[in-house]
Order: sequence, then structure tokens, then C-alpha cells
Amino acid sequence: AKNQGGGRFSFYSESMSDQADRRLEMEHQLRHAIARNEFELYYQPVINLRDNQLVGVEVLLRWNNENLGQPGPDEFILIAEHSGQIVTIGNWVLEQACQQIMAWSRAGFPALSVAVNISSKQFIDGDILASVGHALKQSGLPAAQLELEITEGLLLNDTPTIREIFKQLKMLGVHLSLDDFGTGYASLSYLKRYPFDTLKIDRSFVKDIDNCQDSITLTNAIVAMAHSFGMRVIAEGVENLNQRRILRDRHCDMVQGYLYSPALPADDFLDWAKRYSE
Ligand code: C2E
Ligand code: CA
Ligand code: CA
Ligand code: CA
Repeated sequence: AKNQGGGRFSFYSESMSDQADRRLEMEHQLRHAIARNEFELYYQPVINLRDNQLVGVEVLLRWNNENLGQPGPDEFILIAEHSGQIVTIGNWVLEQACQQIMAWSRAGFPALSVAVNISSKQFIDGDILASVGHALKQSGLPAAQLELEITEGLLLNDTPTIREIFKQLKMLGVHLSLDDFGTGYASLSYLKRYPFDTLKIDRSFVKDIDNCQDSITLTNAIVAMAHSFGMRVIAEGVENLNQRRILRDRHCDMVQGYLYSPALPADDFLDWAKRYSE
């Protein structure tokens, strides 16, 4: 805990053993997080570019843990993946998300699609088919409203088992999205081999789309290719009107980002959505 403020002495304050301590402490705290009600789902709106309608949400997990100072998902998800806890946590997220969307539906709110991030570990170590089936059944959410976001990391260990699970998930009727597109490796071939409904263009592409011709050219190519495979395209991390205009002109289907709203707690999201639809 030396010099928390600046990065200058970070070598000393973030020594290897401090990091290992934090990691162990996090694993320990994660074990009780569900029982202690420390997890909270946040919702980020997804907007259709053609008519500016709110069409869905992406669910993003938050962890209110005071000992650890509210670690971000980029940090604690990684640790939960390594420790195997992500399977339990991921199932909890699936169930809560489906229930929340159904609760809004029953309260008369227009039906939204809900996108849930799924870790590779949930495919490999967990029974993702059973978990998804259970979450749908328990909540009553129509399968077509549930979208599973998967990163291409999972596809790197391309196995018949994984392809079979994809097939079965499609048969259940849920939608599959390829998340963080453009940040990994041999992505193009996956598009042909896996039944994705949606491709999500990573924020790193969108970031300089309004001042970089190469990014525009790439976006054009990605959208055209995705459409030719019958996929819809969502751009994430849209922060200004200029980016939105460029994406709309390039026939991108949907956007999400701070231009509309960051991910919000359930109540705040509902307020936002009511105001937005007025
Ligand atoms: P992701 O799935 O790529 O999620 C998008 C991230 O970008 C989110 O960060 C979101 O808050 C942020 N974001 C959205 N719009 C903007 C924008 O306009 N500008 C900027 N600068 N950022 C924006 P977050 O919530 O910190 O999540 C980080 C990552 O943690 C997610 O990346 C996802 O990989 C993982 N994650 C979050 N929740 C879950 C979960 O329930 N399960 C699993 N397995 N992973 C999760
Ligand atoms: Ca995502
Ligand atoms: Ca993403
Ligand atoms: Ca990501």
C-alpha cells in the first residue's frame, strides 16, 4: 500500500507478493459473494440504428465488495475463471438476467433481448446447455430473447464437443453472438463454421472510426462480410454522434455505448428507458 495515487512507484506497491495476496483474498471473497448478495447486474441499452429503438440490453456484472474496493469485472472474472468459480457465478448471472427481463416484460415493458457474457470455462467445465435450459424454464423467458456472448477464445480449442453444444443451443432457440470481434486471431474462418447470429465489433475499432480512414474501411468490410453470412452487427463503445453516423452509413445494425448510456443498475436502467422512449 505504498503510493496508491501515482503510477511512478507501482513497481513497489504492486509487488508480486501483493498481487498474489490480492488474488487469494479475492478468491476467498468470491466464495461468499453470492450468499452475501454482493453481486449486482447492470444493464446497458442496445439501440437499433435504423429507427433508434431500444431493442435489448447487455448484462454486465458488478461486485460490491468493500474489502477489495469494488473490483472491476475485467479483474475478478479472470480470477473466477482460474479458480473455477465462474461456473457458479455465471449460472447465477444467467438466472438473474432472465428473471429481470421477464419481470420487466410482465410489468408491461416492451420485450427486450438480453445479452449475457459467457466465459469459455462455462462451456468446458460447466453444463452450459442445462444452465441455459434451467434459466429459461425457471424465468419463463422465451429463448429467442436470450443472447449468449462468446469470445473467440473459446473457438481456439475448436472441438466437436463445442460445436455440438453450439448446435444444441441453437436448437433451444437462443441467439449466439461473437463478442470482441477483431481483437483475436483467425476470426474469419469461425464465422463460417459456427452458427453465430450476431457479431460484435470491438470498441477498439469504434474508438478511432471518426478520424481514421483505415478503421472505416475495416468496418465496411466487417459489416459486409457479416451480412453476407446472415449475421447482424453490433458496434460497441459508441461514444459520439460522429461515430454513430459513420456506423449507420456503413449499415451497421445496432450500437451500444456511452453516447446512449453506460451500464446501469436495474432501477436506473428502467428510468433511463422510460425517458428514452418518450
Ligand atoms: P465486454 O463484454 O466487451 O463488455 C463491454 C465493456 O465495455 C463493459 O465493461 C462496458 O461497461 C464497457 N463499455 C460499454 N460502452 C462503453 C463506451 O462507450 N466506452 C467505453 N470506454 N467503455 C464502454 P465492463 O462492464 O467493465 O466489463 C468488462 C468485461 O468483463 C466485459 O467485456 C466482459 O468480458 C466481462 N464481463 C462483465 N460481466 C460479465 C459476466 O457476467 N460474465 C462474464 N463471463 N464476463 C463478464
Ligand atoms: Ca460482451
Ligand atoms: Ca465486447
Ligand atoms: Ca471484452
